[in-house]
Amino acid sequence: MAAIDGLPALREVIRDHDLVAKKSLGQNFLLDLNLTAKIARAAGDLTRCDVLEVGPGPGGLTRGLLAEGARRVLAVEKDSRCLPALAEIAAHYPGRLEVINGDALEVDVLAHLTPPIRIAANLPYNVGTELLIRWLTPAVWPPFWESLTLMFQKEVAERIVAKPGSAHYGRLALLAQWRCEARIVMVLPPEAFTPAPKVHSAVVHLQALPEPRYPADPKILERVVAAGFNQRRKMLRASLRGLHPQIESLLEAAGIPPTERAERVTLEQFCHLARLLAR
Ligand code: SAM
Repeated sequence: MAAIDGLPALREVIRDHDLVAKKSLGQNFLLDLNLTAKIARAAGDLTRCDVLEVGPGPGGLTRGLLAEGARRVLAVEKDSRCLPALAEIAAHYPGRLEVINGDALEVDVLAHLTPPIRIAANLPYNVGTELLIRWLTPAVWPPFWESLTLMFQKEVAERIVAKPGSAHYGRLALLAQWRCEARIVMVLPPEAFTPAPKVHSAVVHLQALPEPRYPADPKILERVVAAGFNQRRKMLRASLRGLHPQIESLLEAAGIPPTERAERVTLEQFCHLARLLAR
């Protein structure tokens, strides 16, 4: 029995339901329920929220979220082998856990959630970045979620929180930090997972800001950032040449030396340039 909820220990759950991890589904399970409860606490006050969890697997994080008081959890899992284990959790927390067997890239989660909504997940590595980019680029801002608390490979987490001048700084950092407060809240060694992955992992917490830090048209900003980092070693006057015939003077007007490289340009400067390009 596990201390946090009186349900069977996760090793027993995995053994009883024969949940041998599948690499193709990015399955690296967290079996320490104290750790999953800690991740759930990093997601903030869940008692007034619906929580979307992608990839519950045998339910370690799901149990952490429910034990920490989440109002409701919607868990989307692709692997149908996990459903009986998740049904046991749902029975233990009547009316608080809904499980959808499907691909998180395809399921219309909004039809199953009531605001306020937070997202918490130990993401499958093969779809993690794609989901994050979708959540960061909704048609309207603020988005449907208040915060994202997500486990990634540590290198991806570093790209999300990177600052100008760092080797990790790029599109993901700018996309995340333009409209969110982003920080790494936990770093985990490979041994925290079963099976152990090759690399360290980290939990990133992203809090949606009510509005962007600096005004800019999202599509233009994305185009400038993409062009700048596509050839990150090139000077901006060269990498952004295709965007505007007078790109050098626009760069100067935005306070960016035309000989600068994208990796040293701040979010504020990118937004300024995007506004000048929009005119
Ligand atoms: N949350 C569990 C934990 O922390 O132990 C499992 C995390 S494991 C890294 C990723 C989970 O995502 C697996 O259960 C896997 O089956 C599931 N998964 C993989 N691709 C998915 C997809 N496209 N949609 C939904 N779930 C997916």
